[in-house]
Amino acid sequence: MSNLEQTLSIIKPDAVERNLVEEIKDEFKNNNFIIKKEKKIKLEKSDAEQFYKVHETKPFYNDLCNYLSSGPIVVMILEKENGVTANRELMGATDPKNAEEGTLRKKYGISIDKNSVHGSDSLENAQKEISFFFKD
Ligand code: UDP
Ligand code: MG
Repeated sequence: MSNLEQTLSIIKPDAVERNLVEEIKDEFKNNNFIIKKEKKIKLEKSDAEQFYKVHETKPFYNDLCNYLSSGPIVVMILEKENGVTANRELMGATDPKNAEEGTLRKKYGISIDKNSVHGSDSLENAQKEISFFFKD
């Protein structure tokens, strides 16, 4: 049975700054994700705070929001069979040190905070995150 899902992906400031956008988009395409929509934007800190609100009680929240709003990012709607889980698998563990060989965070991540990509962690959050960035 088919289970086409859309998920939200962000290429974070560290990867945009290192000119990795096209390379990372190719990773998605080579893994059979369709990029349905994409845009390059720069968030205000208040936008980042809203986006990462689930983490507001965490000790890393303030740094995380400063970081996500520190430079341009590329936000994308990705579509694939079981897309939410497939994207999390392709991304790898949050901390690049723990990420499996071949994953995006292993290949491109610098540290737990500069880990190059974001991906929605559930179908429910994917839908929320997609509407956060793409209103129509
Ligand atoms: N993060 C961090 N320090 C931590 C845990 C997380 O800087 O100790 C950052 C990291 O960049 C991560 C983001 O906060 O991508 C959101 O954390 P989450 O646990 O949701 O990880 P993810 O879903 O991105 O793998
Ligand atoms: Mg998360």
